[in-house]
Amino acid sequence: MGEIALSIDVEDWFCVRNMGQKIPFKEWNQCEFRVRKGLDFILEELSQRNLRATFFVLGWVAERSPQIVRELKSAGHEIGSHGYNHQPLDLTDPVGFKKDVEQSLAILSSQAELPIEGYRAPSFSITRDTYWALGILRDLGFRYDSSIYPVRHPDYGIPDFPTSPTQTEGIWEVPMSRVNLFGMRVPVSGGGYFRLYPYSLTRSLLKKAQRDGDVVLYFHPWEFDENQPRVSLPPLKKFRHYVGLEKNREKFRRLLDDFPVKPVRELLH
Ligand SMILES: [Zn+2]
Repeated sequence: MGEIALSIDVEDWFCVRNMGQKIPFKEWNQCEFRVRKGLDFILEELSQRNLRATFFVLGWVAERSPQIVRELKSAGHEIGSHGYNHQPLDLTDPVGFKKDVEQSLAILSSQAELPIEGYRAPSFSITRDTYWALGILRDLGFRYDSSIYPVRHPDYGIPDFPTSPTQTEGIWEVPMSRVNLFGMRVPVSGGGYFRLYPYSLTRSLLKKAQRDGDVVLYFHPWEFDENQPRVSLPPLKKFRHYVGLEKNREKFRRLLDDFPVKPVRELLH
């Protein structure tokens, strides 16, 4: 029976790829900073159940609010890097990528006063085209990466990638999770899929995924912030960002009641 790791990508509502064209990085400072709304909810639910998770913190967020990393550390959570400014890897190059990750590491390791072991790419953007990133992460001293989604999606995915933690390019890769259902690869890792599926479906898919190996779940603080500012987006992007926000807190509580989650690094044996 596989184990279930919980990861949280600590970014605000305006940092996501779907908003990239509407709210470029240079305008982030003018947006309402409300990452705590969702983050405090997540931390409280974990604390009530005495559970720990991995928080991949965006360097820009940590710089804006240094208290976050200190709080995560004192609550016993794992702190990982989500890069500095959420530039997807397909929109940068090896030099720009390395600079971004180094910038985030400098901020996070000085705040956490601990080595940072894990990395999560913006928008799961490690694919066959950006596989070079794994060697850079290894050289920067990371023990693992958790960015590959073994599904087919217009923006990301390596459909034939293994579904359990695997060593490749001298580093551990801890992929997102999916199950095979009627010959299809069905994603079951959290985020928009979790908001879209009824909770009973998520639960049965997770139990099936656990029979095949370890599972990694991901969420973002803004997914638990129903009152975040609404941005006018094209229909598909709008759907992906806003679907199911109003029921998500209740679903998340049920998830934590049913599955004793742990930090990602505890999947590496
Ligand atoms: Zn992200």
